[in-house]
Amino acid sequence: MEFIDSHAHLYLDNFTEDIDEVLQRARDKSIARILLPNIDCSTIEAVHKLEKESNEYCLAMMGLHPCSVKANFAEELATINAQFEKRDYIAVGEIGLDYYWDKSTTDWQKEAFHEQVRWAHDRDLPIVIHSRDSIDDILDLLETWSYPGLEGVFHCFTGDKTQVARILDLGFMMGLGGVITFKNSNLDNIIHQIPIEHVILETDAPYLTPHPHRGKRNESSYIPLIAKKVAATTGLTLDEVARQTTANARRLFRI
Ligand SMILES: [Zn+2]
Repeated sequence: MEFIDSHAHLYLDNFTEDIDEVLQRARDKSIARILLPNIDCSTIEAVHKLEKESNEYCLAMMGLHPCSVKANFAEELATINAQFEKRDYIAVGEIGLDYYWDKSTTDWQKEAFHEQVRWAHDRDLPIVIHSRDSIDDILDLLETWSYPGLEGVFHCFTGDKTQVARILDLGFMMGLGGVITFKNSNLDNIIHQIPIEHVILETDAPYLTPHPHRGKRNESSYIPLIAKKVAATTGLTLDEVARQTTANARRLFRI
């Protein structure tokens, strides 16, 4: 049995002290690969460094996170776009819209999102979408724009039935993480609606730590806790959840 953590920020300062132990614990729990979404220009070096020092056990994405879209976003985007000229990445991420932290930057966020979707389409890369309080707007945009063949994942998916149906129509994946293990999440009914062929697993470490470690720092070795919850909710065996979600992530990210 093996898993992929499709979304983890293990390059952040939260892990500088003990990254080797964190990676070893992940290996011990059969995590085959860890995928690193970038945040902004200030994190590019750390993402590259961890990918290299882990001998590509961790793999880099490149993109500008919506919470980092400020007045200077054109410069940020130029620097990030230049990275794609220098080397290959597994995805454009993480990108999207965040209406939770700052709604005043919505127009800029939409512009930055669209530009990065274009890069992904031009370079034939999947997109990793951050959609906090903004799933419907993102779906509206993706349904309006026409980028045939565009693929991607709604990371940390916590939407409703209608949104599941729209995401399936687009052919996109949903990333399930620690939130589904929270006692008050009420996501069991929703998880049931998602065909396992459209599910990938993620931690979003160091954030969104699954039960029973909630409140502590999250890490990739907790992926089996999320997989067990998916298994319990869908009636699939843990082995089936591992096999299918790992195959989905391998196909989407071509790894
Ligand atoms: Zn993230």
